[in-house]
Parts: sequence; structure tokens; C-alpha cells
Amino acid sequence: TMRRLVIGNWKMNGSLAENGRLLSALLDQSGRAQDAELAVCVPYPYLAQAAQALDGHKAAIAWGAQDVSVHARGAFTGEVSADMLHDFGVRWVLAGHSERRAYHGESDELVALKAEVALAAGLAPVVCVGETLQQHQDGLAHEVIARQLGPVLALGAERLARLVVAYEPVWAIGTGQTATPEQAQEVHAFIRATLAAAGAAQVRLLYGGSVKPDNAAGLFAMEDIDGALVGGASLDADEFIAIAAA
Ligand code: 13P
Repeated sequence: TMRRLVIGNWKMNGSLAENGRLLSALLDQSGRAQDAELAVCVPYPYLAQAAQALDGHKAAIAWGAQDVSVHARGAFTGEVSADMLHDFGVRWVLAGHSERRAYHGESDELVALKAEVALAAGLAPVVCVGETLQQHQDGLAHEVIARQLGPVLALGAERLARLVVAYEPVWAIGTGQTATPEQAQEVHAFIRATLAAAGAAQVRLLYGGSVKPDNAAGLFAMEDIDGALVGGASLDADEFIAIAAA
């Protein structure tokens, strides 16, 4: 059985001082979560700090970015390429987080392209999918997720095997209203079946949305939940490690 994968998404939080404390606390405590594979996705300016702090401890805690440009180089002001991320030892890169989809208009095709360029640079994409509250209430979760995954599935089995999919119901993100383990499992089983039909049944599936130490074990007990993508609780070393060890 696979090691549980727990990735922290710091979003737009932190400072040199705060990150320094958080990274050293994570390293101090990572031994409590030895059965888990850990990573933190930090804001771009702090990649160098994460790389320096975690260098030599990559097996314990890897690091990643929250986005990537689809372009290789050139006149794309404000963007950061996959090769640049690779330069800083990045392992993971989020693609299509719901906040990027909602606030930056990222399409399903763009998200798949981000996954593609990340893979080409040797990075491991975490492709994020999930329905909004309205779509949830209208019973459209499967339909929405199938649409979001469509262009990703076109990458083919070989590339799919090297990425991770995170199911993050938008209504559960930052709301404290986590999906129940049964609700999450039901969607994960659908995602598993969708990937299996594309020859990629082994892809790791993370759940994200208000994951906390007190609800993590219930989620991880589910057959198709292979780990978590953690927002708010990843800013606290005790909580993040407690989730990973749950
Ligand atoms: P929260 O854990 O803060 O709900 O955020 C989830 C998330 O968006 C992780 O990418």
C-alpha cells in the first residue's frame, strides 16, 4: 500500500520570519508522520527559502509551487516557468486550484497544459478539481469533475501515472465545512473510475477542503482517499503534522 501523501498549500500567507519558524517546526516534528510523504507549496518568493531550509531533508518534506506558467520563457511579465521551479528543487506544483480557476479564469484546457509543461520539466503536478456549492446542490458534481478532467485524461496513461489529482469541493474550502468521509469517498470513487478508464487507476487522489487533525483520520480511512491537500491547517506545524499522522 502506498504512503499517504499530505501536501500543504500555504496560499498567499507567510513572511521570511514566519516561514522560518514554520519550516523548522515542521522538520522538528516530521518524525511523527514517518508513514506519510509530506510537502509544502509556498508562494514563489519563498521557494529559495524553502529549498534552503529543506535541502537535505527532501525525503521528509518536499516543496512545491502553487502555479506555473504554460510558457517556457520570454515576454510573459509576472509569470514563472516550470524550468525556473525546477531550478529551485521543486517537486510538486498545483495546477488549477479553484482559486486560480475562479479569480484568474483558468480553463480546463489551460490547467491540463500546466500539468503537461510541469511534467515535461520533471515536476509532479497536483491537478485540482471540484464543484461549487451551487453545482453541488444541483447534483452536478460528477458532471463538473468529468469536464474538468477531460483535457487532463488526454495526456495519456503514461503521463497520468506521474501526476496527482486533488478533489477540493469549493464549498468545503476555508469554510470549516468539510465533506464527510462518505461524501468525499463517493466522489473519489468516481474520479478513480474515470482515471481507470484512461488506464491510470493508480493515480493518487488527495482530498482537500477544511482538513483538520480531528477529521483527517476519518477521511484517510476511505478506500480511495490517498492523502490530503491542506490549506489553513498547513500554516500550523502541530496541526499539519497531526493531520499527516492521523
Ligand atoms: P482549507 O484547508 O483552508 O479549507 O483549504 C483547502 C485548499 O484549498 C487547499 O488547496
